[in-house]
Amino acid sequence: MDIPSQHVFEVLSGKGVEELHHANSIATACQFLRSKALMSRGTVERMGLAQTAQSSDDVDKRYSIWFDVFLDSVDIHARAGRANAYGPVLFVFDLALIDRNKTGRIWVTKENPTKWAGKSDEKRWFQGKKELNDDFVRGRFDQMIVLRHCGGSLPFGRHLKKIILDDPKLKTDENVNIYSMAVGALRLAMQDANIDVPIERRRCKAQCKCKAHWSGDDERLFKMFDP
Ligand SMILES: [Zn+2]
Repeated sequence: MDIPSQHVFEVLSGKGVEELHHANSIATACQFLRSKALMSRGTVERMGLAQTAQSSDDVDKRYSIWFDVFLDSVDIHARAGRANAYGPVLFVFDLALIDRNKTGRIWVTKENPTKWAGKSDEKRWFQGKKELNDDFVRGRFDQMIVLRHCGGSLPFGRHLKKIILDDPKLKTDENVNIYSMAVGALRLAMQDANIDVPIERRRCKAQCKCKAHWSGDDERLFKMFDP
């Protein structure tokens, strides 16, 4: 069920949500910067642009959310103390990103689509402003803001505030620092698009499990960090 963007903006704003977040790989993040837009996985694929396969792709296709753009109300890495499965780049937008007419109507999930099997539409999506106001909890990971029917592409204009980037503290076989390589790729993409926002090196809590996530699997590391 879609909800007018103005209503979603008002409810989230009332609950203290000031920023929206979107995590992705370096390669996909560079494409977004060059396009100055967030794009759904389907749109990126259709345009023939490089993108990184995600474990949720099959679920996304099954539930026809392949052309949707997903946003979170919190920084999952910081909150959960683990790497974000969608990638090491976190785009941070101000909430006003969705306070615009061209965003159209917005959908909000009650549960992550990976848990949707056998559930009705009412169990999958918030049904309106009142329900959203009653039950939306800032920081509940399952409750994702989904932009559908926006042509699979959401121009972010001046709403991108910054990028937070994981530092795996690892080097390539050629002794290149992976964090520096990633920053270089993002900066180049920003230059091409005439964007200039800060890239922050992520500071983790002491118990954060992300280092183990990145050092434990070389294939995952390069899939996510390779520009
Ligand atoms: Zn961490």
